[in-house]
Amino acid sequence: MRECIFCQIVEKKIKAKIIGESENFLVFLDIHPHAPGHSLLIPKKHFANFQELPEEYGQEFVKIIKDIMLKLKRVLGTDNFTLGVNEGPLAGQAVFHLHLHIIPRFKNDGGGSIHSVVYNQPKESVEEIYQKIINASES
Ligand code: AMP
Ligand code: ZN
Repeated sequence: MRECIFCQIVEKKIKAKIIGESENFLVFLDIHPHAPGHSLLIPKKHFANFQELPEEYGQEFVKIIKDIMLKLKRVLGTDNFTLGVNEGPLAGQAVFHLHLHIIPRFKNDGGGSIHSVVYNQPKESVEEIYQKIINASES
């Protein structure tokens, strides 16, 4: 995908501060960091979002996440992180090439937990939603 900015980083057409690499993944520093060491982990092949990522990448994906956290821990001295994917425009996705944000967290850094991303209180009870989900036919 020629116009995809992250594909261009993989193809070395756009420079990035690459801090990790495996056979199928690349990790580089976010250009607008929300914390020291804020990194983006991407597959080298273009997948628009997490739902498109083939399952066979799972083990390698987990390994590189852990390797990067260890590297950042050594350098930055924290083993606290927020990991997140903005999956789709309603969730804030701006670049449509899957990327996992790896954000180191520090004491008194002013941030919150994942719970602070949204608070859209459901009108239905948890039980009603649960019943809907388990009664839905496989699709
Ligand atoms: P998202 O809202 O999850 O799609 O976030 C996209 C992220 O990509 C943002 O945090 C941007 O700062 C980051 N970003 C965009 N272009 C670049 C680039 N050329 N190099 C590094 N990070 C980038
Ligand atoms: Zn791409």
